[in-house]
Amino acid sequence: MDARHLSDRLVRVAKFVPKNARLADIGSDHAYLPAYLAINKIISYAVAGEVAKGPYENAVTEINIERLDHMIMPRLANGLKAIKLDDNIDTITIAGMGGPLIKDIFTADLEKLTGVRRLIIQPNVGQKLIREWLMDHSYQIIDEDIVEDDHHVYEIIVAEKVNTKMSYSILDLKYGPKLRIEQSDVFKAKWHKQMEKKRKVLKNFEAANKVPIDKKMILEVDIKEIEEMLG
Ligand code: SAM
Repeated sequence: MDARHLSDRLVRVAKFVPKNARLADIGSDHAYLPAYLAINKIISYAVAGEVAKGPYENAVTEINIERLDHMIMPRLANGLKAIKLDDNIDTITIAGMGGPLIKDIFTADLEKLTGVRRLIIQPNVGQKLIREWLMDHSYQIIDEDIVEDDHHVYEIIVAEKVNTKMSYSILDLKYGPKLRIEQSDVFKAKWHKQMEKKRKVLKNFEAANKVPIDKKMILEVDIKEIEEMLG
């Protein structure tokens, strides 16, 4: 992979970046995403923020190879601390990290989100936690996507700041307000697989001498919920 040949996952993240955006890509190993967006004339400016030295140096190298140093600023920094006021960032991408870490990154520097219109988040795990955080901080989930890439399934959540308090149901938070309505093939396959896993665990419980009743009940409720959600 390089900036001219992105993974399917990052291409799908990129598609949500608005034209002429001033982007901060946080956790920007190799700066592949901002470099791709600059090469394709989607963004007007970017910060490539990285907390680790190796990935930061990879970002510097990629930016130099593509001669994009006038447009993409690599910064060695923790989370949103990579963003300076005069960057005038309006869009943030955070991809390839766990939901708890992404939540911590946002929460640590909330003031850096002032003026940022759009968040494009691809959490590897903990999607519910991210949707809850967005709801609690008045972000509306305006779009979502789900993609299979190299035998993994990834969810992408796109949110914009709104003035009103958002309210999402527990099903929206768990499965995604858009994803659960759209029910794409990848989405259905993901939740069928999850359901089969839970059914197997339940079967093992039933075969065991000592059945943990509370865990069994949780599994039964989860399975029923997924069944109903998938219709
Ligand atoms: N965003 C790229 C992608 O989706 O392919 C890279 C994902 S990589 C798995 C996660 C990157 O996030 C690593 O390079 C890691 O060093 C960086 N990272 C982790 N915590 C961070 C933080 N608090 N601030 C900035 N970068 C961070």
